[in-house]
Amino acid sequence: MKFTILGSGTSVPHAKRSSSGYWLETENGTILLDCSASAVHRMAQENLNWANLDAIWISHFHLDHIGGLAPFLFGTKYAPETQERKKPLKIFGAEGLRKVVENFDKANDYDLLKQPFPLEIIEIEALDKFEILKNVEAVAVSVPHTEESLAIHIREKDKTIVYTGDTGFTMVLGDFARNADLFVCECSFVEKSPVETHLTLPEAMHLARYARPKKMVLTHLYAEWDGVDLAKEAAKFSPLCEIIEATDGLQISL
Ligand SMILES: [Zn+2]
Ligand SMILES: [Zn+2]
Repeated sequence: MKFTILGSGTSVPHAKRSSSGYWLETENGTILLDCSASAVHRMAQENLNWANLDAIWISHFHLDHIGGLAPFLFGTKYAPETQERKKPLKIFGAEGLRKVVENFDKANDYDLLKQPFPLEIIEIEALDKFEILKNVEAVAVSVPHTEESLAIHIREKDKTIVYTGDTGFTMVLGDFARNADLFVCECSFVEKSPVETHLTLPEAMHLARYARPKKMVLTHLYAEWDGVDLAKEAAKFSPLCEIIEATDGLQISL
């Protein structure tokens, strides 16, 4: 699998970090993990085959995670690259996803659900196993952020990736990410979080030591991380695995 970071930032505009989006290339197709407004053009900037994308995972309905979905579907509806496409695009997320997409659509009768190719919206229940792509198995768990927020565990053959989406601290993630080849974990704040629905570095490192993933990417970084040496700060916690600071455009092969 190959993982490309489109946006390592948050909803707050930042010169170097665009908002959430991660491209996962597998042997069985491609998945976009979260779709911020900036992710739509970031896919093209990274020369990714967006017109052939197989699946989109929406972790929750905050606009820095879903706000690009309507613009993307507006693009695929009219783009020359997608007019001959026959295979379906599947969009996965929590209960309520269909209603959010329909409300985007109704804002101005965009008719986003009518595409040149079949479009499927699939609402996932926490703990139900599903195939996000053929032969790529996934399962989601609820995390403390918004009511619908889900973290996802993706497995292809013997490789596993876990993506937290936005989350507060929960040891559920420690078990969920155990021994993962790649643990993509939000780490919004350096030391103290103004809210309980995001993680700080000490909390993320606690999860790292418990979960023992092979590699851990810290992402969803607010501007207070600017000028902080993330790797050096993380090393102080002896995290027992490789810790990688997310940057836009970073690629990780598994
Ligand atoms: Zn967010
Ligand atoms: Zn959020």
